[in-house]
Amino acid sequence: MGSVGVVGAGIIGLSSAVCILERDPTVKLTVIADKFTPNTTTTMEELERLSQRDDAGSYLTIYKTTTFDVTDESCEDPFWADLVDGYRHLSQKELAQISKTTKFGYSFTTWFFNGRNYLPWLIERLKSLGGTISKKTINSLDELAGSYDVVVNCSGMGARKLVNDSLVHPIRGQVLRVYAPWIKQAYCLNTKEWHTNGEVVLGGTAYHNNFDTRVNADDTRHILESTSQLVPSLKQARMINAWVGLRPGRTSARLEKEEKRFRDKSGKEACLKVGFWNT
Ligand SMILES: Cc1cc2nc3c(=O)[nH]c(=O)nc-3n(C[C@H](O)[C@H](O)[C@H](O)COP(=O)(O)OP(=O)(O)OC[C@H]3O[C@@H](n4cnc5c(N)ncnc54)[C@H](O)[C@@H]3O)c2cc1C
Repeated sequence: MGSVGVVGAGIIGLSSAVCILERDPTVKLTVIADKFTPNTTTTMEELERLSQRDDAGSYLTIYKTTTFDVTDESCEDPFWADLVDGYRHLSQKELAQISKTTKFGYSFTTWFFNGRNYLPWLIERLKSLGGTISKKTINSLDELAGSYDVVVNCSGMGARKLVNDSLVHPIRGQVLRVYAPWIKQAYCLNTKEWHTNGEVVLGGTAYHNNFDTRVNADDTRHILESTSQLVPSLKQARMINAWVGLRPGRTSARLEKEEKRFRDKSGKEACLKVGFWNT
């Protein structure tokens, strides 16, 4: 039995914490974060497993749906084409039905879930496995030396400051949430994507290195116009809210481990195993 501190309570931190406890329930584990859901930014086998639960539909809102991705330029198959179910190219007839300007498109079936339900569920799961949570800001990983044998750093955008990871940068995203239960499929036209579950998410702007978390009226107008062009019935959808978040962008995902030597509070040298997990 050892002690593990997980920094970060977004989807990466909470999923990592639950996985560690599911593998070894004797571990003494604490999730340390300054923000918890719904204030964090927020994946196929795990979703498949979760989808078999009794509460997959009512609480976790995990479901499978067909997605149509189309672009105005011809492009190559995505690298993940073999990972999803039923990947196929759209016929010219299907493309014309979606938009007159599209030249290339594909369809596939995959899992969707709503982070607003999934993260609270992960916190409950963590607690039921004996894990604890601690709300505080960590200024340096040194602070955790002596308290934990292993630290897993899943701090998202926070890694910029916490571990000076200059490759982590914000990708500002604005989305609109509307009520349109008649929409049963997901579409992605160039960069405009939306998912369905009664509540439909429209958009997903992506501005690199932009820290502004205020809702922008021009973005709202642009998202409404472009998605309504694709599916005119969206003009009738009731707006629920607009939301901006900063995706923790990184030139490549960071999944690595290292051993750090620190002085603990009493001045004794301590060794801390640190795992990094940043998307
Ligand atoms: C508009 C928008 C739409 C998106 N759509 C999708 C989508 O459709 N599909 C998809 O897969 N992804 C989507 N994403 C991306 C996805 O939300 C993120 O990639 C994901 O949430 C990142 O999770 P994370 O756990 O790495 O970071 P976060 O959720 O940002 O969590 C970081 C955690 O670390 C904590 N933390 C950081 N620094 C410190 C510190 N110094 N001390 C203590 N705690 C600290 C924070 O408090 C927080 O708890 C979208 C993002 C946005 C903004």
